[in-house]
Parts: sequence; C-alpha cells; structure tokens
Amino acid sequence: MKLNLDIQPISSWLNLKNEPLLIAGPCSAETEDQLLATAHLLAKTGKVSVLRAGIWKPRTRPGEFEGIGNIGLQWLKRAKEETGLPIAVEVATAKHVEEALAAGIDILWIGARSTVNPFTVQEIADALQGVDIPVMIKNPINPDVSLWIGALERINNAGIKKLAAIHRGFSSYEKTAFRNEPMWELAIQLKTLCPELPIINDPSHICGNRELIPYISQKALDLDMQGLMIESHFDPSVAWTDAKQQLTPSALSDLMEILTLRKPESKDKEFSDKLAELRKNIDKIDDQIIQKMAERMQIVQQIGEYKRDNGVTILQVNRWDEIMNKRNDFAKALKLDLNFTGKLLELIHSESIRKQTEIMNAKTQVEVK
Ligand code: PEP
Ligand code: MN
Repeated sequence: MKLNLDIQPISSWLNLKNEPLLIAGPCSAETEDQLLATAHLLAKTGKVSVLRAGIWKPRTRPGEFEGIGNIGLQWLKRAKEETGLPIAVEVATAKHVEEALAAGIDILWIGARSTVNPFTVQEIADALQGVDIPVMIKNPINPDVSLWIGALERINNAGIKKLAAIHRGFSSYEKTAFRNEPMWELAIQLKTLCPELPIINDPSHICGNRELIPYISQKALDLDMQGLMIESHFDPSVAWTDAKQQLTPSALSDLMEILTLRKPESKDKEFSDKLAELRKNIDKIDDQIIQKMAERMQIVQQIGEYKRDNGVTILQVNRWDEIMNKRNDFAKALKLDLNFTGKLLELIHSESIRKQTEIMNAKTQVEVK
C-alpha cells in the first residue's frame, strides 16, 4: 500500500538556516522576556530555522499551567520581528487556528493529544480549508500509525500541501528509560508508505530528560529523518513545563556540533558494489531463516496433532522454560543481544501456540458435526 498525499517538498516552504533542519524554542511561552531572551539566544547560534513555543498547553491534569494563551501570539510576533525566525505554535481547536492565522503565525503543528482524535483533527482541517500554511502533525499518543495517517489525510484533504510529520514517541504501559517509547518501526512504516513526506524527530518528548537527547537525535538522523524539533529554554531549571527535557540554547548549539550528518546514499562505485555484495548475503540468510521457520512450523504441526490425539494440553510451561534457558545460553555464547533473541523466541513461540490451537479447534469442529 502507498499513501497518496499531495505534498510540496519542505525546501519549497522553509528556508534552511543550517543542516539538519532544527526547530527549537521553549515548551511553553511563559513571559514575554523569557520568550524573547530564548529566541535571541537561539537565533545567535545560527543553527535554528524555526522558533517554536506552546501557548495553549494540553496538560494531562487540570490545574497545571495550561499555557499563556492568546497574548503569547503577540510575543511570538515580536520574537519574529527581532530575530527574523519564522514562528510555529500548536493548535488544538478551530479557534486556535483562527487566532494563529490572524496573528500571522508561519507554521502550525497538531499535538499528540489532538492527533488521537479524528473529531479534533477534522475540526482543525475545516478551519484550514483554503488556507496556505505549513502544518506539522505529531504522531498520536498511542502506537497507531492509522491515526497518524488519518490526520495527515484529513489536513491534506483540506488543501494543505506543506505538510510534515513529527515523530515524538508513543505512550506505553511499560516504563522504560524514555518518557515516550520511540517505536522507530512506526515512523519507518510511515516513511515507507509515503517516502516524500518529511518526518521530523522530537527527541525532547521521546526522552523526557536532557541526557538521552543526543542519542535519540543521532539515531533519528541515521534513520534519515529530515530534521529535529528540540525544546530549548534560556534557563531550563526554572521552566514552567517540561523543565527536565529542555536544553539551553548554548547546549543545543553544542549538540548540533557533535551530531554526524550521514547521506542517504553514496555515488561511489566501490562503495555501492561492496554494499550490493553484502546485501546479497543478507538476502541469502533471510531466505534460509524463512526456510527454517517453515520447517519448524511443520514439526509444530506434527506435535500439535500428536498432542491432540493424546489429549495433552498445548502449553507445557517446563518445556518452554527449558527452551528459553537453552536458547539464551546459546545466544549469549554467540554474543547476540538477549533482549532481541528473547523477543524473537517469544514471537516464534506464540505462533507455535496459535498453530497448535488451530489444530485442536479443527478437531473440536469435527466433533461438533
Ligand atoms: C509540545 O511539543 O509542546 C507538546 C505538547 O508535545 P506533544 O504533543 O508531543 O506532547
Ligand atoms: Mn513540551
């Protein structure tokens, strides 16, 4: 399946100050002084292409700082006049769109808590009908690519061609080192469905802390994402929202210095010949893996029939423990990542159980007849 979005390349609507594209600014506009001080420091780095700030903040709990509101638009305008940086804000309702457009905001973005709701996205799309403004759409909170695609389609159907996606990670029940799990495979899935859609990574909301931002930023660039949106505050220690994940403008500038920008391809003949040879080897091994899986599943089939005919349950916990322990020891000896092999074995095991359940149920159906 391919995703048919009618979009214009990012270079047609954004003047790149530096590579990679960097969108930066405070999580929230707090005061005029805070926004202007931060904007000036960011502009001075020469590395920022767009200034961002939230003025309507969708907070998880009521009673937290919910954004400075409409007045922030005027501060942003002033920041633009003084620094020359185009300005971006998050919109979550038709009214936000109207106010942002009236104030001359350059770029809008739709936040993760809005992308989850097709009613909200459609309301924003309707307010954008006939308007020519770039819109960036964050992934929904939950790991559902269809919702992300649906939001892109709704906004594109309203006539918005200056479109980009923002990958800000996904909420997960399991708590890990990240505030939001990157689940890179979902961003890759979107990229595969629509290669011309720019995807910008938001390490701030993925990490939830400053320390991991360099790692996620580099990984995003290595996965050929088109740019980064990073929260920056002139003094993060006193930030009203997301204090732990904001960088000072000078730390942000240092970060951009250490990131390595790799190119998606190389024209060098020797390089491409060597790569083609390595890929041929990978193809061969992948074929062997699939072949072995098919052989394994044939044996699973025989085991399933045998258990069925002897009235034995599908799952024998001891046997599964034994498999896991033996395979883990072997994987460790081969220096494979145990997290990876563990997940792989779980997947194979659950497919074996599915297959055996099918065999048992086939018998039930015969008996019913
Ligand atoms: C933000 O960028 O300030 C924000 C609220 O992000 P998200 O929608 O990704 O939570
Ligand atoms: Mn934030």
